[in-house]
Amino acid sequence: MDKESERWNYKPPEKVQLNPTFSKSISIRAIFEWYASYWFQLSTTTLALILALLAWVFFFPSISSFQKLNWESYGTLYLLNLIPHCFFAGGIHHWLYRYKGQAKKFKFDVRDPAKDNGTYTFRDQVKDNMFWTICSGITIWTLFQAVVLWAMANGFAPLLTFSKNPIFFILVFPIVIVWASFHFYWVHRLLHWPPMYRVAHALHHRNINVGPWSGISMHPIEHFLFYTNFLIHFVLASSPVHLMFHGYMQSIHPIFSHSGFEKLYVADKERAKMGDFFHQLHHRYFECNYGTVEMPWDRWFGSFHDGTEAATIETRARKKRMYKS
Ligand SMILES: [Zn+2]
Ligand SMILES: [Zn+2]
Repeated sequence: MDKESERWNYKPPEKVQLNPTFSKSISIRAIFEWYASYWFQLSTTTLALILALLAWVFFFPSISSFQKLNWESYGTLYLLNLIPHCFFAGGIHHWLYRYKGQAKKFKFDVRDPAKDNGTYTFRDQVKDNMFWTICSGITIWTLFQAVVLWAMANGFAPLLTFSKNPIFFILVFPIVIVWASFHFYWVHRLLHWPPMYRVAHALHHRNINVGPWSGISMHPIEHFLFYTNFLIHFVLASSPVHLMFHGYMQSIHPIFSHSGFEKLYVADKERAKMGDFFHQLHHRYFECNYGTVEMPWDRWFGSFHDGTEAATIETRARKKRMYKS
């Protein structure tokens, strides 16, 4: 057994895979399977799309109602963010960590969430994560969307309708994904610049052993930087459904990618892909995998950890160099 496997309760047998569209040996089949795995079945992407459509069709106030500040429209926006996030983070947390529905099957890190530990706000990892997620995360995420909606309603941000350009309307969804991945990589690298890390990002990295509530548990400075990616809607013509998809995608995905488990396992059957060993490695070794598996930014910029012992040695050397200078 290699040394790397000994450090994990569960380690995926294969190396971490990145989107094959950008690999040197192009395989149409591999590319099709990659996209099909999250556009044509239940995944964090399709879940975000379903939530955005439900919110838009059934609950979303008319765009003109955002022209002036009012509790009804802006309050509805806040609830449309708060309720699904708490439902999914709370529900998955309950299944995995309170009910312990699958014990430690497919759990990367052997430990339970920390209790009575001074590193965390309220000395409790889960309460700490809930506090920063709800008070800072969901609030700042809603504020950025509120600014965009206000601008759309008053003609300062370009508004797109399905009937005006249906093909482009559909294309805006994948464009938002690529943009969010690009923006996240660079903001995240900036957050690992040692002074910035100490002031802001260390709060998210309290969580070496992550859980669903760790997903967007961050310092307000980090939330502010992270959510500047909503400003794309000032240049990219879009509609409220794209804006909601954008918000759900970057809240639902981190809930799953920080769940700490690779798979959801119910009644002796694998039900869904959950966690993300790629990001789990980031939480254990810090100076690697700043982006997502969707875009190969980490491979291109030399910070990719594929889960092997050799990559761990390289990452540790990088961390030493960063903190020496
Ligand atoms: Zn994280
Ligand atoms: Zn980080």
